[in-house]
Amino acid sequence: MTIHRLRHKVLLLLMLTMSLGFTGTAFFYMHSAEQSVHAENERSLHKLTESIITVIHTVMLDNHAEIMREYIPRLRGVEGLADFRILRRDGTDAFVDNRTIASVNALLGEEAFPRRRSVPNPPQFDPRHPAFVRALTGEEAVTLFETGKGGERLLRFLDPIESSPKCFRCHGRESGPRGVVMVVTSLAAMERNIQQVRFESFSLLAVSLVITMLLTGYMLGRTIVRPIETVTRALSRISSGDFTHNVAVHGNDEIGHLAAGFNAMTSELRSTYDHMQREGDKLRTIVEGAQTAVIATDSSGKVVIVNQAATEYLGKTAEEIVAGGIENIFDNPATMQHLLAQDDQWEKPPERTVSYKGRVFLVSAATITDEEGAVIGSAALLQDVTEEKRLLDELRKLSTTDALTGLYNRRHLDATLKREIERSKLSQVPLSVVLFDVDHFKRFNDEHGHDQGDRVLQAVGEWMHQVTRQYDTPCRYGGEEFVLILPATTPETAVLVAERLRKLVESSAVDGLSVTISLGVACTASPGLIAPEALIEAADSALYRSKHGGRNRTTAYGETGAAEGTAPA
Ligand code: GH3
Ligand code: MG
Ligand code: MG
Repeated sequence: MTIHRLRHKVLLLLMLTMSLGFTGTAFFYMHSAEQSVHAENERSLHKLTESIITVIHTVMLDNHAEIMREYIPRLRGVEGLADFRILRRDGTDAFVDNRTIASVNALLGEEAFPRRRSVPNPPQFDPRHPAFVRALTGEEAVTLFETGKGGERLLRFLDPIESSPKCFRCHGRESGPRGVVMVVTSLAAMERNIQQVRFESFSLLAVSLVITMLLTGYMLGRTIVRPIETVTRALSRISSGDFTHNVAVHGNDEIGHLAAGFNAMTSELRSTYDHMQREGDKLRTIVEGAQTAVIATDSSGKVVIVNQAATEYLGKTAEEIVAGGIENIFDNPATMQHLLAQDDQWEKPPERTVSYKGRVFLVSAATITDEEGAVIGSAALLQDVTEEKRLLDELRKLSTTDALTGLYNRRHLDATLKREIERSKLSQVPLSVVLFDVDHFKRFNDEHGHDQGDRVLQAVGEWMHQVTRQYDTPCRYGGEEFVLILPATTPETAVLVAERLRKLVESSAVDGLSVTISLGVACTASPGLIAPEALIEAADSALYRSKHGGRNRTTAYGETGAAEGTAPA
């Protein structure tokens, strides 16, 4: 079983320490008490034997040994004495037969003491008994604890009877004690008392232990455990998000400091939490109201942020976006997978325009990782750039085309010609240009008006489209002059194209009015025509020759005369 509550742990520890302390003390005092009871008992026995020995000396010196014969059985009858004997040095009982009387009478040489009735076969104490030997040789009292036949505890006390010089007259001079007074008492009563005392002491001990435990437990509970439990409960409320709870502060001790510190921490946490809440609300409002669509996931890939712009732009409900996941916001998962798979960090997310449901979006998306590189989510920002894209396309068109004819303008011509010449150089495939000019256009304007002239120029633009390929670039060079850039075209083919156009113009009419054009052709295959300016100049000189040759004709650069020229109408 594991103990989880602090209160129980403290109490268990307390109980163990106190039990050990109390029991140890109790054992020590009980043992000392028992020792002193035994010592007291021995002292009493010693006093008894000493007084008996004094009696023996007195009655023997008064020659009244028979008194002892009467005295011994009476002493045996004393309550608490299991045995009482006065033993000679050989272990036989004194005062029960006539052996001593006979030896005394023999020493005195007269029948000084009359013989008495002797007890038949008196018991003899073993003279080799160590206690007996020690009492005789050591000449001091010997105590011996024994166990009786019935298992009762006995105390055998042997006190040597010293000889005095007065004894020598009758008993002769002999060394050592004359015998031993042996008293045997049962310890049963005393041990019962000790047991009783032990029982009472232990009961008292148990009761005081319980009372002390209860009191200490109560005091510990009040002063330490309960305040700690209060703080612990408050901590668990904080961990579940409740920062409103404070604990009561009692006293100025460590527990009081703990509670005060806890309250300070809670208040700090509360203000930080409130601040974060406000910041979060602010951020939510910004994200929600933003004109940029925001879709973000958590580390598991679940979509957790979808703002209103996202639902509006994508034409889906927030639930649909969450259910589909960030990869499917444009229905085709490949689009987002490509953007999210970029290695770049969020600081520099890749951008890409995506057309979806008639709108164009500028998409910034990235998988966001923490400092250790672990994925913490992904996010996509969508800006609706439909209008910007349209304006940009228009601007681009405006910057490269001519407003009247819709043909490419001079700037585009310069750029394209430069690029195409480079390509021609690399591929070693010739590039040709056709430069042409409307004949007598000044006069045409004068006769039919400038607007009519404009309509003719517009028609020329359309005719140029009719005779060129997809790769060719028809441009308005300026005024009523035009250029065709013809990549991968030999001068011969270029002349064919020029002639086709010339004939088309000649045979067509605008509002019943016709014009002619004069053309000049130049090709990079001609020596020295590797720069755009040189090429245009060469075409211009060929055109000049067409004009001088009579107009409405085509001249190739380097030709001596007009090629397939036709006389003006
Ligand atoms: P030539 O055959 O020698 O080329 O005779 P031309 O009259 O065409 O001679 P020139 O090139 O000197 O005259 C160009 C005329 O083209 C002058 C101008 O009135 C007219 N023109 C130039 N740009 C425009 C334009 O945008 N619209 C109209 N309607 N006329 C233009
Ligand atoms: Mg001109
Ligand atoms: Mg002209």
